[in-house]
Amino acid sequence: MKTIDEHLDDPAAVSRLLRRHGITPTRQRVVIARAILSRPQHLTADQVLQLTLEAGDRVSKATIYNTLGLFSRKGLIRELTIDSQRAFYDSSTHPHHHFYDPETQQLTDVDEDALQLRLPETLPDGTEIDHVDVVIHLRPSRSSTG
Ligand SMILES: [Zn+2]
Repeated sequence: MKTIDEHLDDPAAVSRLLRRHGITPTRQRVVIARAILSRPQHLTADQVLQLTLEAGDRVSKATIYNTLGLFSRKGLIRELTIDSQRAFYDSSTHPHHHFYDPETQQLTDVDEDALQLRLPETLPDGTEIDHVDVVIHLRPSRSSTG
């Protein structure tokens, strides 16, 4: 498990974090990991690309996509699909849910305990629940649209 106290300013610490998740730390992977893990946040691949550019590192868009996919599969970050054209990458991997506001295109965390879910008692044969992701899609309230 990663912790929020990880010293991500230190590339060696980032390399260790990647290794603990079974990821070989290349220079570009370290750059991308530092960009997304610098704080709790939800970023699109384009926003991660922007952060790496601002940090002065040139990483191709294809590398960003591939690396974020790898990080997700290894459990370092969480991929959240909002609709067919929008995926966000969440630096927080503990169980929680989200509000999505299409006006601002922002995700906000919802505590796992804030949502009461009744899960089905029977599952398809030979399966178990891996995780539950709930995205609550928002819109302006009718009273505020005047
Ligand atoms: Zn989140």
